[in-house]
Amino acid sequence: MGSIVDINLQLCTGCGACVALCPRNILFINKDTGTCAVSDETKCDKLRGCERVCMVDAIKIH
Ligand code: SF4
Ligand code: SF4
Repeated sequence: MGSIVDINLQLCTGCGACVALCPRNILFINKDTGTCAVSDETKCDKLRGCERVCMVDAIKIH
């Protein structure tokens, strides 16, 4: 999913840790799937805070 913010939906538990941390508020939990999603990835700061907070390595920044 996405060319900058890459979320592995098989691994994501929907814990919301990355959503709470993201300074650009571009991550959210998809209510239908229960997993993380990105809105406007062009706003990503690419500082990888979400990568560091994710306990299951489900989110990667490219
Ligand atoms: S790298 Fe930063 S701005 Fe981009 S999605 Fe992760 S926490 Fe949000
Ligand atoms: S921190 Fe990881 S497991 Fe939790 S919602 Fe974000 S991508 Fe999914």
